[in-house]
Amino acid sequence: MNEIQQLYQQVILDHNKSPRNYGHLPECSHKADGLNPLCGDHITVELYVHDGIIQDIRFTGAGCAISTSSASIMTTVLKGKTAEEAERIFQEFHGVVTNDDAVINEESLGKLAVFAGVREFPARVKCASLAWHTVHAALQGEQEISTE
Ligand code: ZN
Repeated sequence: MNEIQQLYQQVILDHNKSPRNYGHLPECSHKADGLNPLCGDHITVELYVHDGIIQDIRFTGAGCAISTSSASIMTTVLKGKTAEEAERIFQEFHGVVTNDDAVINEESLGKLAVFAGVREFPARVKCASLAWHTVHAALQGEQEISTE
């Protein structure tokens, strides 16, 4: 493992052990349940969007280290962003985890860049992107999604 991979591994383990923004919101405007049957990950995302901005976001659920850490990092990235920005970051993130040729822009992706490594493990891509598909569904007004 090289230095970068070790650093990435640490970030994932840290967020899996102490997930950020875990729990329920007192008030939410958007909510969706996501399921990844392939791995057994399930997650519920709650958002409070006001004036077009994601004022608050939290998640609950259980899954593997990749899905939990991805959800945790996602909440830290999306809080304070507009729904449009969230959508753009989702597309960028999705490109990075699915497309070998995607350029990883660490500046806009921040810690999400740690998940670029999953594109070498197709079964893990759904773990890493579950939280994102769930937020996307919630913002579209859908209540549940399955990655299958
Ligand atoms: Zn998983």
